[in-house]
Amino acid sequence: MKFTDLGLDDVILKAVEEEGYTQPTLIQEEAIPNVLEGRDVMAAAQTGTGKTASFTLPMLHRLLRHANSSTSPAKHPVRALILTPTRELAAQVDESARRYGKHLALRVGCVYGGVPMNPQVAMLRSGVEILVATPGRLLDHVGTNNVRFSSVEFLVLDEADRMLDMGFLPDIKRIVDLIPSTRQTLLFSATYSEDIRRLAGDWLRSPVKVEVAPRNTVTETIQHTVMHVTERDKSKQLVSLLQEGKVSQALVFCNTKMGANRLTRQLQNKDINSEAIHSDRSQIERTAALDNFKVGKTKVLVATDIAARGLDIEQLPHVVNYDLPHNSEDYVHRIGRTGRAGQKGEAISFCTPEDKESVHAIEKLINKKLEVSEPIRGSRPVVAPRHNRTESKQTKEDSFFSKPYVAQSGISGSAKIIEENNENKPGRIEKKQTIAALFMPPAGEKKD
Ligand code: AMP
Repeated sequence: MKFTDLGLDDVILKAVEEEGYTQPTLIQEEAIPNVLEGRDVMAAAQTGTGKTASFTLPMLHRLLRHANSSTSPAKHPVRALILTPTRELAAQVDESARRYGKHLALRVGCVYGGVPMNPQVAMLRSGVEILVATPGRLLDHVGTNNVRFSSVEFLVLDEADRMLDMGFLPDIKRIVDLIPSTRQTLLFSATYSEDIRRLAGDWLRSPVKVEVAPRNTVTETIQHTVMHVTERDKSKQLVSLLQEGKVSQALVFCNTKMGANRLTRQLQNKDINSEAIHSDRSQIERTAALDNFKVGKTKVLVATDIAARGLDIEQLPHVVNYDLPHNSEDYVHRIGRTGRAGQKGEAISFCTPEDKESVHAIEKLINKKLEVSEPIRGSRPVVAPRHNRTESKQTKEDSFFSKPYVAQSGISGSAKIIEENNENKPGRIEKKQTIAALFMPPAGEKKD
């Protein structure tokens, strides 16, 4: 299918073309026509599948009739509200929406915590049609009458499951109650738990359900290796990998903020350009660290799991698990930052003798063996834990429609749409298609 077959306006297609997109991704192919028709959509899709465009492009199309270049704030009420769980994701969605809507006279704005209120107040007061927000900061603005929702036509709940994990439900309920019930609602979630079903039942009208790559799947373009090292040798090993060019640029995960700070200092002491990103850093520092890394100014971004989900970093060649995650699902999220959109990537995990069980759990979850790679000289070898080499079975999925997913090659996957009426009695249309499989975030460290 081509973008031109989807029924989007030419000005939107122009922006899509300028982005260099040649073909819609699966979620776009399935969601866009339904959003254009005015249907509510509930999608099991994660960052990296092209989901931002899947809701933004048709939304922009439907809002085109409101486009105007008046300077009067009254001519620019909020028409679409997009809620996201983290500041970084809000900023990312905001940036995408601006790019997709750059040829339209519709304003896009973003509010999230950790940064001063005043510029946001000025932006809200001058009027904005598409508002991307984290729930906490948005409610601060509601409380001081900086924003009204009486003209909202679209509500997007992005990463709904994560917003629940982060305890945002009461905030979201308060916000939803302020939005006209005539709105169109689009809900994106990585899982389809009872809680999400309940929310969908309350807030969506006869939603079309769309699923792309379920959780716990990893693309075949990522090479997984494990290096057996001692705790003491980890930093030396990472320095060797970087200095010898085996790792050119890497997102490196530590389990604690202190550990991330310490490692960043150690790398800096070796003249390796590094920055840390975690919840004890200010939002300005977090944004700068991420931006510097994205444009290649820094070689290493040392992160806690705050960066494990949602972030889209183009052509990131390596993810290093300096500490193995406590929870094997986090492995999937962390390494999902590389090997995106069919590109090659490598995930290197440092494994101490104590990590043996964690490695087994990861292998079981992703149904794949982690290749053992020899540490680089200078590090003392440790006895490799003996892995259970028998084929592990994929664990039971809790995906949308509970059908196991196995990545075929590169960016392939499967998806299906289920039309559902209010009584929850689905009639099915199934479909197979290629798509970049991607995954999602753990509970964040701080909510806005
Ligand atoms: P998202 O899932 O919205 O975070 O998108 C992940 C990445 O895919 C972003 O870098 C987008 O620019 C890119 N992308 C979105 N749609 C397409 C498409 N149709 N073709 C190629 N890349 C895309």
